[in-house]
Amino acid sequence: MAKPSSSQASSLEDLRIEVLLTMNKMEVWPQNELSNLHLVQLGVLRRNATQRHGVTRFKRGRNSETLHFEDVETVDLHPQLLTEEWFNYARFVLYHEFLHVLGMRFHNTAFRRVESLWPHQGATDGKMFTQHLRRLSADWLWTCTTCETQYPRKKRSNGKYKCRTCSTVLVDIEYVGETI
Ligand SMILES: [Zn+2]
Ligand SMILES: [Zn+2]
Repeated sequence: MAKPSSSQASSLEDLRIEVLLTMNKMEVWPQNELSNLHLVQLGVLRRNATQRHGVTRFKRGRNSETLHFEDVETVDLHPQLLTEEWFNYARFVLYHEFLHVLGMRFHNTAFRRVESLWPHQGATDGKMFTQHLRRLSADWLWTCTTCETQYPRKKRSNGKYKCRTCSTVLVDIEYVGETI
């Protein structure tokens, strides 16, 4: 985990308030069960993380079968989520992590059912966010010369990959785009 800057810390607190307001209205949990969520330490993932958008970290040495709020070390969100553009997805990710904090450890059917009750938009933005992160860190755009789809990547494709849409062999175009 990286230490959040002061502006990241205040964005995280804003998100926490938003998510808790919504969770209170959902009437799934008794109010006192949610009060712990005010105390969870919020942080940010390293900025070059691309696989994870959020994570709930538990303290070392705890038995994973019986994890509770007391065992939570921190909830970290990707720093790129803390922008207005990704606000809807960010609060969904924080909601998802809060379900882990509340003791729903695994992504099982029960977890997915409660997760799906989230009443705002954003739940389906994960793929777009992954694409966004890839583009931010890309050095190459694997480009389809037929349908013009571009796949931002760290490495060259060297003629080994085909377009998912039309199966044309992709060509490498060097990408000097946005940097973070
Ligand atoms: Zn999860
Ligand atoms: Zn194509």
